[in-house]
Amino acid sequence: MINCKIRPRHKFAVCQQSGKQRYRSRRDGLVILTSTRHVAAQRENYGLPCHRKECRVYKCDTCGGWHLTSKEARA
Ligand SMILES: [Zn+2]
Repeated sequence: MINCKIRPRHKFAVCQQSGKQRYRSRRDGLVILTSTRHVAAQRENYGLPCHRKECRVYKCDTCGGWHLTSKEARA
């Protein structure tokens, strides 16, 4: 039997407020953040520009999920 299921483009749900990928938990966000950093470091090694500078995981009040942000936490 041929598997003809269409795979969703995004693995994660997207927050309507921020348009960002939504993670179920802080831990999920941290896992993604770690892999994002890994990719960014690899690109730097090859001298490629990298626009992904996410440095923090925060809880979204709108969707109740977690997002990554490149902005520093406000004091
Ligand atoms: Zn959200």
